[in-house]
Amino acid sequence: MTLAINWQALAATIALDGRAFVNGQRVPAIDGAVFDCISPLNGKKIADVARCTKADVDAAVLNARAAFEDGRWAHLSPKKRKEIMIRFADLIQANANELAVMETLDMGKPVANALAVDVNAAQNTIRWYGEAIDKVYDEVAPTSRDSLAFITREPVGVVAAVVPWNYPLLMTSWKIAPALAMGNSVILKPSEKSPLTALRLAELALEAGIPAGVFNVLPGYGHEAGAALAEHMDVDCIAFTGSTAVGKRIMQAAASSNLKRAWMELGGKSANIVFADAPNLDEAAAAAAGNVFYNQGESCNAPSRLYVEASIADEFMAKVAAHVAAFKPANPLDAATSMGAIVDDVQMKSVLKYIQSGVDQGATLIAGGSQVLAETGGFFIEPTIFMAQQHMTIVQEEIFGPVLAAIPFDTEAQAIALANDSIYGLQAAVWTSNVSKAHRVARALRAGTVHVNQYNDDDITVPFGGYKQSGNGRDKSLHALDKYCELKTTWLKIDPA
Ligand code: NAD
Repeated sequence: MTLAINWQALAATIALDGRAFVNGQRVPAIDGAVFDCISPLNGKKIADVARCTKADVDAAVLNARAAFEDGRWAHLSPKKRKEIMIRFADLIQANANELAVMETLDMGKPVANALAVDVNAAQNTIRWYGEAIDKVYDEVAPTSRDSLAFITREPVGVVAAVVPWNYPLLMTSWKIAPALAMGNSVILKPSEKSPLTALRLAELALEAGIPAGVFNVLPGYGHEAGAALAEHMDVDCIAFTGSTAVGKRIMQAAASSNLKRAWMELGGKSANIVFADAPNLDEAAAAAAGNVFYNQGESCNAPSRLYVEASIADEFMAKVAAHVAAFKPANPLDAATSMGAIVDDVQMKSVLKYIQSGVDQGATLIAGGSQVLAETGGFFIEPTIFMAQQHMTIVQEEIFGPVLAAIPFDTEAQAIALANDSIYGLQAAVWTSNVSKAHRVARALRAGTVHVNQYNDDDITVPFGGYKQSGNGRDKSLHALDKYCELKTTWLKIDPA
């Protein structure tokens, strides 16, 4: 189906509208300012995008607050809100090709992935939380007979969501779906590097019946629109996905303004531990390469640190390197492409600098290492593999590009120590046939998700988030609803007969 579509032709015809979406309407920034939206496919400008700042944030918060207070969304029956959310998901599906091509043009991922993964998971997320609305019950506490205490969830009010560029649609849906399901008003700030699909999503939400003012999108820079949301005195909650450094700034702004709830989904440097007794080394090698090179390595949960038991290190690394050929950077609008462009020039240069640091610090380059397809004007880097050591920058820092650092280990204890030697704790994996060892290691790993003998499984039903400096919140699953509601206890006296 993907192969049958002429994506290049579709890309040439779709409308790319960079205006903000406030109170149910497309609007320019209040001062009229715009910034260039550059496609990573060829380095060319594809749209003017509204450069929203504090004035736009103030206006959007006023609207979102009014929408919340008059109950146009929060007071609808759960059944009605569910119907609207499901219609919203249906509209995403109906516009899937357009959204996929927009995502590819804007951030560079292969269009086949944008369609099959990003758009599909975004609609599924909206649908799943829509379905949950009339199935989540409140609680009655086990109190004595002369009173009744019930614990109810109430929406927090105005939620700001600030998201990154690596999965623009998906990260947007992870924030807005549970926030809207709980009845909140939402102001989303997409990344300045990939604002287009979130803006289109807001139009579809309105078309589905989400009332004007309930879901607003303000494109702009982090230090302008993003900071204004974090500092705002009338935003009740800020849900952030992005880098750890920016997350810290947002938490400071939340604390020094109105103590808004601040939920952080931050960076990662996930450890993948392969023991010699892994049940299938071929599968382990395919997963080690596939998950670090997928999405050009621009995944928060990419297993970018590979720890291999020394006795199989040479054999295993040859298997991993053999998978590099399957990730050949090419035009992301070609349905057969498996590796697309890095999001922008800045990110490409940052990744190349990390690769150079690996070389300078003495790591052994066993695959890739260079920019490719420079003649296209786009930003492409080939999949890169190093044999490295724990102290090296490429092992300690999140690169957010297609770079794998592998390190041999000798003992189980050493593997655990090396894996946990990171400021991050988002995800991890362990490969072994020994059930007790699998449990011991999985328990010892300080990470929000641990995979055993696989890396791919993922579902909206399970929470996603990190330990340590990978953050404090959880997206996905019913647990995510907790971020967007207050728990109210109501005591009721029951007179004895
Ligand atoms: P980033 O932190 O640079 O930017 C993220 C968002 O924050 C953008 O919208 C940006 O405009 C905004 N921002 C920047 N400065 C701000 C400020 N001072 N105040 C408010 N907002 C501000 O991150 P990025 O480069 O867009 O994304 C990559 C990072 O995101 C990586 O670290 C990656 O691991 C992380 N990430 C985490 C998850 C997760 O679920 N844990 C998922 C995806 C990406």
